[in-house]
Amino acid sequence: MSILTLAFDADDTLWHNETLFAVTSEQIGALLAPYADSDNLHRRLVETERRNLRLFGYGVKGFTLSMIESAIEVSEGRVSAREIQAILEAGKKLLAHPIELLPQVRESLEGLAKKHNLMMITKGDLFHQESRLAMSGLGDLFSAVEIVSEKNAETYRKILRRYHLDAEDFVMVGNSVKSDILPVLEVGARAIYIPYEITWELEVAELGNPDPSRCRRCQSIAEVAGTVAEFFQTV
Ligand SMILES: [Mg+2]
Repeated sequence: MSILTLAFDADDTLWHNETLFAVTSEQIGALLAPYADSDNLHRRLVETERRNLRLFGYGVKGFTLSMIESAIEVSEGRVSAREIQAILEAGKKLLAHPIELLPQVRESLEGLAKKHNLMMITKGDLFHQESRLAMSGLGDLFSAVEIVSEKNAETYRKILRRYHLDAEDFVMVGNSVKSDILPVLEVGARAIYIPYEITWELEVAELGNPDPSRCRRCQSIAEVAGTVAEFFQTV
């Protein structure tokens, strides 16, 4: 059997991410309560983020700017400099937040790295994701790290070409159906979906009923080794 490449998403697959955004959003919601109820603010924030994605890309900096824009909108321009400063501080806190790995990540990756070629493929801000990878202490386990601006079929095709990989020998593992699963199946590779406790609104997509010989759902990263073995019938 040829060498398999297992590629891992990072946010909410290797380490906690969306829960931190949720806590920060709630704190800012409380701060802006005089101007808007939290549901209204949240709706506005998601709309603003969607609109700004092609300008700001993914990550904390875009989130912070979109939050400020939403605050200005919901307050009809009345939000104070002090409140905007509090939003900026919350964004900086998110950027500096320590990495919390999900359960069993390190030992699972160490086990998988003995047999397979491991990669990390993540969206987001280049500087922030590089610093998180460094903080995670997982860097040595990956032969390659790709920080990309979007995860669509074209992105995966480019990565396969760049590393001279065959789609048949490539498995992507991640928590986002939209980014980690559907485009990977589209290019003819395999995917393992590990749902995280919450999904960002802009990442929600339907998985449908994919072919179980090409796509499986796991409860945790600890199940990846067994699933890969089943995919390639090496059990
Ligand atoms: Mg993710």
